[in-house]
Amino acid sequence: MECIFCGKENTAKSIEHIVSESLGNTVYLMERSRVCDECNRRFGKFEREALSSTIFLMERARMGIPNKKGNAAQGQLGGFGIQGNKDLVKNLVTLTGLKEEDIVDWKPESQTFTLKLPTFEKNEVAVSKTLLKIGLEALFTSKKQVYKKYDFKELRQFLDNTNQAEWPLVVSAPAHGKFESIPINYHKFELAKTRCHLLYQEADQQTLLFRFSYGGIAMTINLLGRDLNWLEHYQAPAGHETIYPAHFRAKLTRLLAQRD
Ligand SMILES: [Zn+2]
Repeated sequence: MECIFCGKENTAKSIEHIVSESLGNTVYLMERSRVCDECNRRFGKFEREALSSTIFLMERARMGIPNKKGNAAQGQLGGFGIQGNKDLVKNLVTLTGLKEEDIVDWKPESQTFTLKLPTFEKNEVAVSKTLLKIGLEALFTSKKQVYKKYDFKELRQFLDNTNQAEWPLVVSAPAHGKFESIPINYHKFELAKTRCHLLYQEADQQTLLFRFSYGGIAMTINLLGRDLNWLEHYQAPAGHETIYPAHFRAKLTRLLAQRD
């Protein structure tokens, strides 16, 4: 079989999970030998980083999703240590490294405060790569006609490290336009059990959006390239703070100013 990423003929026997096992997926898998061992190994590195040092870690811990070895999610996010319950009980997360300045809006009468968790700890590249990998594998598996319509050269060159320039994404902003599910029937149903949804939207020739939501977070990325045009729709009231990595916000503001 031909690897869908590097094109090499291979007979890899390993099982490629479209959505990582550590996010609770055991059923949505790639056809054998469609991802070669070399690509699979490379993907493992950024997937591990994305799942253990970003907001995904918090969601895995909160939902009691075990890792491949059956243990609770554990890792570091910003200055916080995050550990899910060892018996995988939902909504029991142990947080260490909490400092006084992290406690905002303390209300003694109701004993509540707001804790702002960082989304990334300089791991945006690992997250972009993980989303692009999931998006392409899902389309190949469940929406072949959409997969065949586009050229994913830029995506492949990012994943094989030929071009390492950062790739923008939007975090937890409301969806703009109409999205449809990539997986259908059984796969869609099983993934929904961990509040995992894979959606796509064909916007224009340069924009094929992939929206990945998991628990309380949602991320949107353009599978076709680093083009910023589509991002104007995701402008938050105070600016572009839903767009990552942060330097794309200034770039987008300039781009929109030129257009006016
Ligand atoms: Zn490959």
